[in-house]
Amino acid sequence: MKIGVLGLQGAYREHMQCLGKLGIDTMDVRYNQDLKHINGLIIPGGESTVISKLAQKNLLFDAIRQKGLLNFPIWGTCAGLILLASEIEDNSVEPLKLMKIKVRRNAFGRQKHSFVTKIKLSGFAAQEEFPGVFIRAPQIISIGDGVEVLARYQKNIVACKQGNLLATSFHPELTSDLLFHQIFLNIVQRSMVTSLAG
Ligand code: GLN
Repeated sequence: MKIGVLGLQGAYREHMQCLGKLGIDTMDVRYNQDLKHINGLIIPGGESTVISKLAQKNLLFDAIRQKGLLNFPIWGTCAGLILLASEIEDNSVEPLKLMKIKVRRNAFGRQKHSFVTKIKLSGFAAQEEFPGVFIRAPQIISIGDGVEVLARYQKNIVACKQGNLLATSFHPELTSDLLFHQIFLNIVQRSMVTSLAG
C-alpha cells in the first residue's frame, strides 16, 4: 500500500511523518501521473485557494475529482476538507464537489484564534475523545444523505465520512494520536480488497 499526500502547499510533510510512524510507504503528489502509484490520497491543511489553483495548474484537479467519483479513498484535513466539499458558502474556492457537505471557511476565527480542544468521537473507536487542533478551521454547516458524522466539537460536525471519503476540519497530523490516520488506512485497505475482488 502506498499513500499519496498532495504536496503542493501546506502541512503535507507532517502527514507523511505520521504515516511513516505506522510503517506506511508515502509519496508527495504534485503531478497528474503521480496518482497512478498510490492507493489513497490525503489533501492536507494549508490555504485552500492556493491548493485549488495549483492543483488546476498541475492538471491534478480534474484527475483527483474523477478518481473521487470512482470511490478512490481521499482524506481532506482542514483546507483539504474545503476542497472535498460540494459547496463553499462564499464561493471563494473552487472545490472538487465530491462530498455532500456545505462549508464555511475560517469559521472558528483567525490564525491567532487557533486552539486545541478535546473533540467528541461518535462511538466508533475505543477512545471517546481526540485532541482537535483547529487552525483557521472550516465549519461544516450542512451535510447531505450518506454523510456519516464521526466527531463533534460542541454542536459542530468536525469529522465525517462518505463512502471512501474522509474529512476532518482539524489537524490530526499535528498531534501524536494516529487514530484518524489509522481510520483512513482502514478505508484504503478495504478499498484495495474490494477492487481485487471486483
Ligand atoms: N483557512 C484555510 C482555508 O480556508 C484553512 C486553514 C487550514 O488548513 N489550517 O484554506
